[in-house]
Amino acid sequence: MSNQVIGTDVDRAVEILRNGGLVGLPTETVYGLAADASQKQAVTKIFAAKGRPNNHPLIVHVESVDAARRWSSLWPQSAEILGTTYWPGPLSVVVNKAPDVLVEVTGGHQSVAIRVPGHVIALELLSRFSGGLAAPSANRFGKVSPTTAQHVFDDLGTSVDYILDGGPCAVGLESTIVDCSRDIPVVLRPGGITTEDIKKVVAL
Ligand code: AMP
Ligand code: MG
Repeated sequence: MSNQVIGTDVDRAVEILRNGGLVGLPTETVYGLAADASQKQAVTKIFAAKGRPNNHPLIVHVESVDAARRWSSLWPQSAEILGTTYWPGPLSVVVNKAPDVLVEVTGGHQSVAIRVPGHVIALELLSRFSGGLAAPSANRFGKVSPTTAQHVFDDLGTSVDYILDGGPCAVGLESTIVDCSRDIPVVLRPGGITTEDIKKVVAL
């Protein structure tokens, strides 16, 4: 039965993540393929499941601005302003990474991308897990990003240990990525938060 892999058991998802497994993560943008960002073996499984080149950096999902700060060696004011204004929401900030952030997560970069997803089940999971989840979109490399739990199963099958069903994604579009590691922030990828929204609170 395919549906055994899909469900709404947050405690089961937490246990799988602690044991180094992969969980389909509902967010407001698209479904993510999540692993404990502090376990090298777990993060490595993401690349195998997606068939993704392993020098592609992943976004770390956290539960709050406070939780985001500790992934960074230097938390810039632009990240603080964007985080307090738009999190939880479809915006990722790139900042200088803390020394212990795995190279498997950053793709060898000295920076790391972080966001707080705007989805009640994702936030519940992050709060119970109390750590960071590395999560790219839950599709095989080159395929369309999934916006339902069933899409995740159809594309990745049993290479995902469990898929948390949070319903269809409200935004259905990737997060906007802003590089805050530079003196003047730069939008690296357009997405769910517009450049106009960003310009309302930081100078680009
Ligand atoms: P996805 O998780 O599939 O939405 O893709 C992650 C996106 O975040 C990719 O487009 C990456 O290039 C970008 N990204 C993640 N980390 C960094 C970083 N440290 N510097 C620049 N871009 C990043
Ligand atoms: Mg993707």
